[in-house]
Amino acid sequence: KDRIVTPEPRQEDLVIEYNLRPRTLDEYIGQEEIKESLRIFIEAARQRGEPLDHVLLHGYPGLGKTSLAAIISHELGVNLRTTSGPVIERPGDLAAILTNLEPRDVLFIDEIHRLNPVVEEILYPAMEDFQLDIIIGQGPSARTIRLDLPPFTLVGATTRTGLLSPPLRDRFGVMLRLDFYKPEELQKIVIRSARILGISIDEEGAMEIARRSRGTPRVANRLLRRVRDFAQVRADGTITLDVAREALEMLDVDEKGFDSMDRKILKFIIEQYDGGPVGIDTLAAALSEEKSTLEDVYEPYLIQQGYLKKTPRGRMATRKAFEHLGIEIKGIRQL
Ligand code: ADP
Repeated sequence: KDRIVTPEPRQEDLVIEYNLRPRTLDEYIGQEEIKESLRIFIEAARQRGEPLDHVLLHGYPGLGKTSLAAIISHELGVNLRTTSGPVIERPGDLAAILTNLEPRDVLFIDEIHRLNPVVEEILYPAMEDFQLDIIIGQGPSARTIRLDLPPFTLVGATTRTGLLSPPLRDRFGVMLRLDFYKPEELQKIVIRSARILGISIDEEGAMEIARRSRGTPRVANRLLRRVRDFAQVRADGTITLDVAREALEMLDVDEKGFDSMDRKILKFIIEQYDGGPVGIDTLAAALSEEKSTLEDVYEPYLIQQGYLKKTPRGRMATRKAFEHLGIEIKGIRQL
């Protein structure tokens, strides 16, 4: 959990991320298609004086969903209210939030797939007709009253759309999928963050951090801060290519952005199962990890980079994985 390359927020990230968060669509780097669609939808909604359609953002942790939600409200010129699925325990909690919104406000629900089903029920009429059904009293004397809500925009975020119940998914008018960032885009993010934090870095140094950041802005920003420490203590304070390389080597982040946990996963599949397939449950048990953590946090980047393959019978290590670890595939001389 304490991995330096985890895409999930660590304690050290919280304050800094707030300062590094892009505030406008122009400041938001990469994800060009998403920005293009949002510009059109936002402009149209503004012209009509209507709330924006409900937006579902899906993408792995650290790719910029929370930032986008804030940008949407900023560009619409309305308030942002932020909460998350597991935090809203009872229907009353959600009712309190909804009745306090102002017209056209943005309500951001992170991890929306983790909403309590009872809470989710009352979200349906709220999203569809801006109405809230509240049950008053208990037993035979209970009755339902219907309240009008201010028209609002729900922005939901989830790691995988498959985790959402179909009735909830169907109520989003706009669905946007965030992809891993290209190294050139992460390089721009690193340079922007360095400027904000007053860190001295050259383009090659930024590119080296970008390449090892697993396509994820949150990881890039974190590595930047760690490499800065190294540059300050072991060099003259400027992050150059050599400084970045040395620092990341020391942090156990290899040239692909893998750390010892990534190598452990691949090694297990290769050494214990001849490269697989291995069922996800077996893998989770062997590595003492939650299945969902493996799926959302560890695997996506390995799969996207072509080191791991999902098959109906389980996970398989690819030729690239054997090569990266310097292990021979049986019968074939690899290296
Ligand atoms: P998520 O909600 O998907 O986990 P966040 O929106 O919290 O991700 O992003 C994590 C951090 O990464 C933010 O604080 C921000 O500094 C940075 N970030 C994310 N996306 C971008 C982007 N497109 N451009 C610049 N910085 C970004």
